[in-house]
Amino acid sequence: MISKKIILTGSFGVGKTSLFNRFIENKFDEKYMTTIGVKVNKKSVFIEGNEVALLLWDIAGEISQDKVPTSYFLGAAGVVYVFDLSRPLTFQNIVSDLTYLKSILPYSVVRVVGNKKDLLTEDQISRLETEFPIKWHALTSAKTGENVEDLFLNLATEMI
Ligand code: GDP
Ligand code: MG
Repeated sequence: MISKKIILTGSFGVGKTSLFNRFIENKFDEKYMTTIGVKVNKKSVFIEGNEVALLLWDIAGEISQDKVPTSYFLGAAGVVYVFDLSRPLTFQNIVSDLTYLKSILPYSVVRVVGNKKDLLTEDQISRLETEFPIKWHALTSAKTGENVEDLFLNLATEMI
């Protein structure tokens, strides 16, 4: 069986833990429980008939340079960089964060994901897209579940 390490990163409160919970247990919680340290979950998916075990690392805190020990990132085949569509503060450092990630993980697949899609209208999303400094890969809602499964399946497909 193939196994792949995926890390989730991004500012506090963007919905990293919620995306994991939605993907792994198909549930959502309105309460905000701060993640302490790192939580690792495992879920297998099937890609073209092959079982791929995804080891999902939910990291507390921001990657922004030195705040997270680089050892957390070691061996990650995939990175999901999450921002909150409803809070511009959560994507103000996106370009430098991605440059940093690229420097420590040059060979991993990086996915840029805007979460909390349920809080914005289609118009608001289009406007944001034109102003956004880079192209995002997916927009999700951990609350409704929209695009969450697809996100991880696409990532798994690209990693193998
Ligand atoms: P983390 O700090 O990145 O792990 O963020 P959490 O997963 O703990 O989520 C922070 C808060 O945002 C919690 O109150 C969640 O219920 C809420 N939240 C997470 N994802 C969504 C979403 O897609 N839509 C909405 N409306 N709220 C969300
Ligand atoms: Mg968390």
